[in-house]
Amino acid sequence: MHRGRFAPSPTGPLHLGNARTALLSWLAARGAGGAYVMRVEDLDTPRVRPGLEGEILAELRWLGLDWDEGPDVGGPAAPYRQSERRARYAAALGRLRAEGLAYPCFCSRAEIAAAAGAPHGPSDEGPRYPGTCRDLGAAEVARRSLLRPPAWRFRVPPGPVGFVDGVHGEQTFDVALEVGDFVVARADGVPAYQLAVVVDDAAMSIGEVVRGDDLLASTARQLLLYRALGLEPPRFAHVPLVLGEDGTRLAKRHGARSLGELRAAGVAPEAVIGLLASLSGLGGARTHIAARELVPGFSLARLTPGPARLAAAAVEALAWTG
Ligand SMILES: [Zn+2]
Repeated sequence: MHRGRFAPSPTGPLHLGNARTALLSWLAARGAGGAYVMRVEDLDTPRVRPGLEGEILAELRWLGLDWDEGPDVGGPAAPYRQSERRARYAAALGRLRAEGLAYPCFCSRAEIAAAAGAPHGPSDEGPRYPGTCRDLGAAEVARRSLLRPPAWRFRVPPGPVGFVDGVHGEQTFDVALEVGDFVVARADGVPAYQLAVVVDDAAMSIGEVVRGDDLLASTARQLLLYRALGLEPPRFAHVPLVLGEDGTRLAKRHGARSLGELRAAGVAPEAVIGLLASLSGLGGARTHIAARELVPGFSLARLTPGPARLAAAAVEALAWTG
């Protein structure tokens, strides 16, 4: 059965861009008659804002989305908060270590940046890791462990990683050349996003991951982890981000108000869905649409692969349409 998910982080309020990704992932799951899972990605503890999880879930329900499993409703793959799933990430790291697929790295950020000829990898990883600690002997590891705790890096095999994305089509990344051995657990013990997301999507039997295309490049890293952990990968579909009128990433200065602000201003959820649908080429010319009305016949194949641009006037108009 098709199972989809949305995985918000309670580190900032939902804005129209997040809301559109949530809507599209929900439509993809419900349009296929599948289940929908809500998972809260709250591992970045210092940035997690108390109370925000509840607000985000309430705003998604206000928009007309619903889920079969999640932190507020439970389910067979519980818990649905990453902060409560640390033992699972530790077990996955243990398996990688036992098989020699993860090794301790003692480098600081500055040391990696300073390493000769380290070109920039994807923005979420920083410079390519030059492999400094790849072949440290046991005695050296023991000596350095006394000075500072290590991060753990995944030993990336050489060669290209390919997959077919549901929106962007055929994709190929060379993780060894572009990123190098990447971090799967930070020195402070927090598992890296790449590891946690793989462990969770597999444990929650997610069949298709629909998320923003800022994560397109990270998919190749995740596919390597699925393989290393003997897990079945889902299909992936990366939906274009919502940009401001000037083509830069959507921000406050574009007049993009958070969902909570729109709700407090008395905007109807059908007006928000109507705007998100028109940004996505769905729903025709209607300004007010209930989310469930978009379910019949929905297909991600109908999305335009380019970024959606949000006109400030369209957000402003929301307040007047009620
Ligand atoms: Zn290192």
